[in-house]
Amino acid sequence: MRPIQMVDLQQQHQKIQHQLDEAIARVIQSARYINGPEVAEFKHNLAKYLDVPYVVPCANGTDALQIAMMALNLKLGDEVILPAFTYVATAEVIKLLGLTPVLVDVNNDDFLIDVSQIEKAITSKTKAIVPVHLFGQCADMETIMHLAKKHNLFVIEDTAQAIGAKYTFQNGNVLHAGTIGDIGCTSFFPSKNLGCMGDGGAMFTRNELLEKRIKMIANHGQSIQYHHDDVGVNSRLDTIQAAILNVKLQTLTACENARNNVAKKYDEAFANHPNFEIPTRVKKSTHVFHQYTLKCKGINRDELREYLAEKQIPSMVYYPIPLHLQKAYQSENYPLGSLPVTESLCGKVISLPMSPEVTFDQIEFIIGHINEFCKQQSASKK
Ligand SMILES: *Cc1c(COP(=O)(O)O)cnc(C)c1O
Repeated sequence: MRPIQMVDLQQQHQKIQHQLDEAIARVIQSARYINGPEVAEFKHNLAKYLDVPYVVPCANGTDALQIAMMALNLKLGDEVILPAFTYVATAEVIKLLGLTPVLVDVNNDDFLIDVSQIEKAITSKTKAIVPVHLFGQCADMETIMHLAKKHNLFVIEDTAQAIGAKYTFQNGNVLHAGTIGDIGCTSFFPSKNLGCMGDGGAMFTRNELLEKRIKMIANHGQSIQYHHDDVGVNSRLDTIQAAILNVKLQTLTACENARNNVAKKYDEAFANHPNFEIPTRVKKSTHVFHQYTLKCKGINRDELREYLAEKQIPSMVYYPIPLHLQKAYQSENYPLGSLPVTESLCGKVISLPMSPEVTFDQIEFIIGHINEFCKQQSASKK
């Protein structure tokens, strides 16, 4: 059995090694390292895959979020609503731009923003909602889009973990994660579902004017060279990364299916387990399982992780500390206890190895050791 990794990128790339080598060699040979033809090709390929008119690549997912907020003209003091249970990047760019993050708790079962709490967080200063499609399935976009329309707010989707997920609206309309709100933001960090071999990111939109602004902001605020109409940033996707992504995009659907097969095995093992709750599937969204995350009950999560580490089984905690209890993001608006679901989740979630390359042997090994740990725990309690 191969050593188990959270994400086995070596194995993933070995299968397409030849195509990757060729793609990289072609870029080296062309010497068009910035904005080469592979970047335009990738924009086109991804737009087609996601069925969205405009894709604007950039340097990473954090930049994508920042550029989106700049493109929408969000200004000092504007309030932006986001879930408290997310990766720091979402809150970081809000703070960096002098905006005010307004945290909303998440659902205990699916880890996604609790839409029943959004409306009471809206004030006259609120300008945008940033739903995060955490772990690979879509937040309740039907309700979020409805609230945004009612209160005249922008929606910026953080789809760094959910590329490929599809959301079905009540009217039967099916849209990809990241193509529903005003702007969708994603990351091609190597371990994401569609990852490159360095940093990369992209924004999606259906609005032509917005696409122009996004492109301008990402390119030093210029739409004509050396004419700077706005203060922008420099954020590009390297040609080499685009060439790699063109190869990997062709495998994305198969990878999504393989991830779902791994999740199904984990589900079978833990569905009626006394010590775990399996992740709830959202009815209106498909799940691309960026992470497979269990909630522990009646056992100590950190002791389980230590036990697994001894058996060479990696695990991760996404995320151990809620945003509002991080030193950089503390605020008197959010004392300990103010976002109870997020706080409780941080103490009990555990993410298991998840990638298209996890083998059934490895899954059996992981499940076996988790069950062994639980057995030892219950024996020692008696
Ligand atoms: C990975 C991630 C980001 C940031 O992406 P980078 O490319 O690392 O900047 C933002 N939001 C979420 C939810 C993520 O998982």
